[in-house]
This record gives sequence, structure tokens and C-alpha cells, in this order.
Amino acid sequence: MNTRKKKRIRLSKFGKIFIGGTILGIIILVYLINTITYRMSDEYKLLDKGYNKSDVETILKKTKNNEEQLDKIKELRYNRIIPKLLTQRYFIFKNLDRYLNYANKHRDLSVKDVVTMVNVNRDYEYYTHVENTDTSKGDLILVNKYHKLNKNFQPDQIVEISSQYAYEGQQISKKVYEAYRSMWNAANKEGLTLIVTSSYRDYQSQDEVWNSIANSTGEEDADSRAARAGHSEHQTGLALDIVTYNSYNNEFDQTEEFKWLQKNAHKYGFILRFPKGKEDITGYSYESWHYRYVGKDVATKIHDLGITYDEYYAYYLEK
Ligand SMILES: [Zn+2]
Repeated sequence: MNTRKKKRIRLSKFGKIFIGGTILGIIILVYLINTITYRMSDEYKLLDKGYNKSDVETILKKTKNNEEQLDKIKELRYNRIIPKLLTQRYFIFKNLDRYLNYANKHRDLSVKDVVTMVNVNRDYEYYTHVENTDTSKGDLILVNKYHKLNKNFQPDQIVEISSQYAYEGQQISKKVYEAYRSMWNAANKEGLTLIVTSSYRDYQSQDEVWNSIANSTGEEDADSRAARAGHSEHQTGLALDIVTYNSYNNEFDQTEEFKWLQKNAHKYGFILRFPKGKEDITGYSYESWHYRYVGKDVATKIHDLGITYDEYYAYYLEK
């Protein structure tokens, strides 16, 4: 009995020192591991770069599950607008370097505008960085100063527009014609009359339009007044210039017909393609008469979001 008791006490004493030492060792080890792990963490690296707590939170949240994107931000020098860019609705990660560049050159612009402009390629000069547009997009083909149709592109099922709805000799895609007639009838029921002044134009005729201006008043003037061949939406067979009788193009927005289209065109699949106040984005002067068919769903979405087709395409279709 006695010896056993002594033995136990001795062991405990020894054990206490041993256990105490071990615990202390573990605490130090855990502390060291934690410190090293933290110093290797994304959070530490971002704070170390100069981002504040809330910036870091934003960056980690927005790049969640995307190691590559996070690495990219870690590689870049500290830039206070990166977290702001990440929270923009139409931010597209692959454009990050371009946003930063553009913001640097245009310090007066808001971060939101930087995103918009770069998304629609406005960090590039017109007609530079031109790509052949993706014609597999069908009704959603994008044609602008950066996306072109080739010489041979012709829409299928081009039909004549009856003189009830248009001036002589107008042609358009069959599907667009049907949508336009429904729209025409709805407007007509309210005592309004629409009329098409221009519709499908092939590559050749667009080339002639542009060249005839260029030959008389120069290329710069031609670019400000007409699209270059391959860059006109009229070649898609999806665009209509619509006015009413006794109204010139540039007076059309004073008419009841225009007001009606503003409220209703999207219900028939049409959008006002070059709106007022969006000239910098679309690259075109305001054209109250130029309507583009994109189908009801997309037209409604664009109408509700209040964005241009160029923006819509970049974010929803090309991204
Ligand atoms: Zn037009």
C-alpha cells in the first residue's frame, strides 16, 4: 500500500513538470503555427499591400472560389479602386487591367463609368481592335464600331415590306417584319402611324454611302455621319429606321409616335439603339428613329435595366 502511494506521488511530481512543459511547448507551437499561417494567409497579404479590413473583405468575398482571380489581385500593386471595381454591377474580371488603365487616364470618371466604357471597348479608338462579330448569336448579333460583319454576310429570309408600313422598296428579315407589323397595328389602334424609312442595307450599299461622304467631305466627316461597311446594323436585317408621316428623322422625337415607341417598342422586341445621353457608350449620335430587333425578352430586359445594347452584350452575352 505504502510503496504504491509514494510511487504515485513521485510520478505525479514528475508528471506535473512533464505535462506543464508539454502544454507550454504546445502553446508556443500553436502560436508559431498560427502566426506563420496567418502571415501566409490571403488576408495578411492583402492587408500588407495596403488594403484596409473592409477592402480585404470585399476582395475575398468577390473572388471566392476563384484562386486565379485572387492571385491576380495579389500580384497587382495596391490600387484603391480595385475593391470599388469589384462591387460594380457590370464588372467583368477579364477587363481588370483595362479598367485600371482607363481609370488612370480618366481620373474625372466614376468607377461605374470606367466599367461601362471599357466593357464597350471605348478604351480603344473607333475602328481599332475590330473583330468579326459572332454571327451564331442570331437575333442578338452585335454590330458596332468594334464588331463587324463580313462582306458576304446576308440575313436569311429577307422580305419586302408592304407600302402600308414603309416607304417604297424596303426589305427586312421575315421575323422582324412580323414583329414590326404587330407593333404597327398596336400603335395604329391608338391613332398613331409608323413608317419605315430605311431597313436592310447590304455591305455594298453601306460602302457606297460611306465612300460618297468620304470623297466629298473627308473620312472624319464620313465616320461621324455613317457607319463603315460591315459596321452598320442595317446589314443584319434586324434594324429599322422608323418615323411617322410628315416627320424628318431628327424631329421624330417630338412626335406622339416616338413617345409611344419609348413606352411600347420593347413589348414587340425592339429597342432604341442609340439613345440620348448614351452617345459616348454607343459611339453614335442620338437617333430617335433607329430601332433594333432583339426579341421580346432581351428588349424588355434592356428597357428595364436602362442600359444600351453594347453594355448588355458585353455583360450578358459575351462575358
Ligand atoms: Zn438606322
